[in-house]
Amino acid sequence: MDTALLNSANSLLENVTPLRDDCGQYCDRACCRDNGEAGSCVWLLPGEDANAMEWAQSHEALMPVTKTKCAGVYCLSPCDRALRPFMCRIFPLSPYFSEKKNSWSVRMDRRAAALCPLFSYGKKGLRSEFVSACEQAVQLLASDADYLSCLEALEAEEAAYRMEL
Ligand code: SF4
Ligand code: SF4
Repeated sequence: MDTALLNSANSLLENVTPLRDDCGQYCDRACCRDNGEAGSCVWLLPGEDANAMEWAQSHEALMPVTKTKCAGVYCLSPCDRALRPFMCRIFPLSPYFSEKKNSWSVRMDRRAAALCPLFSYGKKGLRSEFVSACEQAVQLLASDADYLSCLEALEAEEAAYRMEL
């Protein structure tokens, strides 16, 4: 596992947000609150659990669909933005392998449907720089076998939820 790749992927997403202004003002930061739904737990990529996320309760669990052992966090208070997990950085997008492009890409996370006001606008409603940075970041991660396995598991989890709707 090349953690430098994760740092580079995170850097791509450091200063780019889904909208030009703070989208959290439209929903009272719905994706950061525990709503008892599928989106409440943030799954961590390999190595992210080494970061001290003092604002969150961490746990190790099996992902519901793939049964992949994975660390996750439940946030109890606002985070240190510089240390937020990768999956928070790309939300409301989620990684998937695009057969059409024959490469890793991002799509709207169906688990965001119930909570994120941006969901109904789709990818086109998001800032293009954000979408592009997310895509670059997942492609970077996919070049490492450990991150690739995690991306595949995350894709399967989201895809299962997608089929349920
Ligand atoms: S739920 Fe959607 S609109 Fe609200 S803060 Fe999260 S990403 Fe932004
Ligand atoms: S780590 Fe930060 S961005 Fe992610 S859910 Fe928790 S409070 Fe929200």
